[in-house]
Amino acid sequence: MIRVAVNGYGTIGKRVADAVAAQPDMTLSGVAKRRPNHEAESALRRGYDLYGADPDRTAEFEAVGLPLAGTLPELLADVDVVVDCCPAGVGAQNRGTYDDHDVHVVFQGGEDPDVADASFTARAAFETARDADAVRVVSCNTTGLARLLAPIDERFGVETARVTLVRRGGDPAQTDRGPINDIVPDPVGLPSHHGPDLTAVLPDIDIDTAALKAPVTAMHTHSVNVTLETPPSPDEVRGLLADERRLFVIPEHAGIDGAGKLKEYAMDLGRPRGDLWENCLWGESVHVSGHDLYLFQNVHQEADVVPENVDAIRAMTTDMTAAESMTRTDQALGVGLATRLDDNTGPRESIAADD
Ligand code: NAD
Repeated sequence: MIRVAVNGYGTIGKRVADAVAAQPDMTLSGVAKRRPNHEAESALRRGYDLYGADPDRTAEFEAVGLPLAGTLPELLADVDVVVDCCPAGVGAQNRGTYDDHDVHVVFQGGEDPDVADASFTARAAFETARDADAVRVVSCNTTGLARLLAPIDERFGVETARVTLVRRGGDPAQTDRGPINDIVPDPVGLPSHHGPDLTAVLPDIDIDTAALKAPVTAMHTHSVNVTLETPPSPDEVRGLLADERRLFVIPEHAGIDGAGKLKEYAMDLGRPRGDLWENCLWGESVHVSGHDLYLFQNVHQEADVVPENVDAIRAMTTDMTAAESMTRTDQALGVGLATRLDDNTGPRESIAADD
């Protein structure tokens, strides 16, 4: 069993903790929090051992009746891997503590690429993590782009990709984020960081990205245009993408027209927190004009990096292949969506054939 700690139990950390706890070959040794807030309480109610991330603040937990199993250094002394899910930039500050305990580290996409030995997505860059002590799972948007563009490049060859990302202004719990009544180019200058970030995991892809922020919380939306070396038919593109378990090609009959219905669908299926681990792309939007492919996809920012974190742990600590790890991760979580009853009994068999 791979012993795993999660440091930083917020939007990403709580989901990664649940995903690790669900894996047959991993043990969640504990989660570390700095503040005794509602998330600390819910971690205890879920049965997770809670550790104080800041040794100077452990008394605050005791004062409100939340028992700690120990401090972060005590947790790190007992694990093989720590997944750092602290706010952007805090992970880099934690690096020294992790080095002191000689543990493998998975950082998140809010950190600079040089925080770790390699940047990671399971579909595009699993092997880069093999000899690494630390990897950085790229951001939610970059993960979504890599999952989409890797199979397209393998089959049809990407000459150039141009993507406009309409990003959610904040997560549902981020009551201090905005904009609240505007659509804001962010950054105004091009390219946004997403294109360069993608080349950290798909170095041969030529890509330009532009990004905006919109007053929504549910998902990001990508408008994708890719110039291909070999022009396919729209059906060939849909078929290729439908074979990727972490991509959900939304069929027309589903009547899903945006993030609201996507989240409703996930909740109706009983998904934890209404999470959509898959990129959700509209089959009808797939359009080919000459060598140019166009489509729209949505990415659930709180969820899509979660299976990637699990695979990053295995890539650093086992000799499993990418396909083996992804299959195991997805079967444990229930990744794989389809809106046909005869196809909707769990992760799709077609992908299990990958390994
Ligand atoms: P968050 O603010 O929801 O959670 C961070 C948690 O870390 C909070 O519980 C906070 O109290 C805790 N924390 C703060 N300082 C700490 C410290 N020194 N030690 C331990 N815990 C500490 O943040 P998040 O959205 O989960 O983001 C975490 C990372 O994941 C960031 O790098 C972010 O860029 C990245 N990420 C976020 C999203 C998203 O949409 N939320 C998507 C992909 C990647």
